[in-house]
Amino acid sequence: MRALCWEGVDSLAVRQVPDPELRNAHDMIVRVRRSATCGADLPLLGGRLPFQATGDVLGHEFVGEVAEVGPAVRRHRVGDRVVVSATVACGSCWYCRQGLHSCCDNGGTAPAVAESAWGQPTAGCYGHPRALGGFAGSHAEYVRVPYADVGAFPVPDPVSYDRAVFASDAAPAGWMGAELGEVGPGDVVAVWGAGAVGQLTAQAATLLGADRVILIDRHPERLRMAERHTGAETLNYDLTDVPAELRERSGGRGPDVCVEAVGAADGAAVPPTLAERFTGRRGGGEDPLAVREAVHACRKGGTVFVSGTFTGFVDTFPLGAVMNKGLTLRSARQHGQRWIPMLLDRMARDELRTEHLATHRLPLEQGPAGYALFRDRADGCVRAVFTPQG
Ligand SMILES: [Zn+2]
Ligand SMILES: [Zn+2]
Repeated sequence: MRALCWEGVDSLAVRQVPDPELRNAHDMIVRVRRSATCGADLPLLGGRLPFQATGDVLGHEFVGEVAEVGPAVRRHRVGDRVVVSATVACGSCWYCRQGLHSCCDNGGTAPAVAESAWGQPTAGCYGHPRALGGFAGSHAEYVRVPYADVGAFPVPDPVSYDRAVFASDAAPAGWMGAELGEVGPGDVVAVWGAGAVGQLTAQAATLLGADRVILIDRHPERLRMAERHTGAETLNYDLTDVPAELRERSGGRGPDVCVEAVGAADGAAVPPTLAERFTGRRGGGEDPLAVREAVHACRKGGTVFVSGTFTGFVDTFPLGAVMNKGLTLRSARQHGQRWIPMLLDRMARDELRTEHLATHRLPLEQGPAGYALFRDRADGCVRAVFTPQG
């Protein structure tokens, strides 16, 4: 089959790779119909994660049709339309039973790698190297889905693939930021980053009863899109003193909940940080610019939720502000298995619309060009979505 492969720093190519096969009884194979780019791919593009290898197949957000099922798969049949959580989790360990699927004990295949980086193993994620399981990605004609009964969900009839693909990762990540950030009725919520996750956080915050939602970015076309589709207010941080403006819009206190949806997405452009120079470890330094501002702007006693992707160490983290202002700091990779059925219901009822986020729909063969558009935010790109099987 054809797949979009990482070929080295800032180099991608579409290549012929072996077809995936069932490896255990709970696996299934999905024929990929839509596969989205994501900010979490950008550190991979730059070769910033340990154990990346030439030929790795990228992509972790996808929908498609079931092509083949293992003998123990109960919930899916060949031909079903399914969306698959980007998080690979077993569904039966202690963490999965608490709904903390991205903390799964059994989702990775090389637990020692994650243990050495983070102290404990975590769930897997498609299209990532060994610390996250080493599962081949979805920018391919077919993908192997382990724990199929746990990670894949039927797409309701009225929901198009273009909408459902965002239930794989971006929508659960957005929902998580608002729900675990404890957004409630009457809250003022600020969200850094008006990409797909930021816009979906804003929609989730509104659905959870927030009084005002303010999205912060510097790309005017993203801010316009966010105003049109999420109903949120916006701030351009190139033109505004963000903390001052947020105080102004929140009775002088600062937002109750601040969600960071940027991560190390701009990481490739960031010079080596102190931690990186000190440890000499690649991928070890990530600039938490938006986290810093969120901590600074948040009202005393408020919550900061970090949704953006970080993998290693950060410098200049304002722990003093967290402590002295009594902030609650939370974060997670998304526990999609917990929220995807609810999100698909909302999509089916037209309460949650996401297809506008796919600003560029491209055949797989244009994968390298799609990532260039996405990385550079060129031509108003929010997400490039590939169509490996039309
Ligand atoms: Zn993603
Ligand atoms: Zn588990």
